[in-house]
Amino acid sequence: RESQAKKFIRQHMDPDSYPNIGSSYCNQMMRRRNMTKGRCKPVNTFVHEPLVDVQAVCFQEKVTCKDGQSDCYQSSSSMSITDCRLTNGSKYPNCAYRTSQKKRHIIVACNGNPYVPVHFDASV
Ligand code: ADP
Repeated sequence: RESQAKKFIRQHMDPDSYPNIGSSYCNQMMRRRNMTKGRCKPVNTFVHEPLVDVQAVCFQEKVTCKDGQSDCYQSSSSMSITDCRLTNGSKYPNCAYRTSQKKRHIIVACNGNPYVPVHFDASV
């Protein structure tokens, strides 16, 4: 089975494609990273920063997660990200996404030993 750490990397890490991101980025990447199998994952964020910099967020400012858990951390630097949001008219299996690029502080939940990101909570 895929580990939580590997799943985070599959769903949220894309350090290399920035800044060459076009309007079809999310349509392609959500499919390529297997988030359109069985259902269209409604929202997902890709982070365009080195993995080590995203892993380091687990040792930065501790914040409360959206679900009330206390294992979330906010990046001290703003990071280059792309938000993917399913369009209103999109119907499985044709998952159509809106692509929006941003510079934001990311909030991730961390778990395990080594203590690494396992869930993308938000960007602020
Ligand atoms: P994501 O939330 O990153 O978009 P998933 O929904 O696949 O992707 O969740 C990733 C994993 O993180 C799941 O195993 C989920 O149980 C776990 N998770 C969700 N919220 C938290 C949290 N606050 N703390 C720790 N793990 C969490």
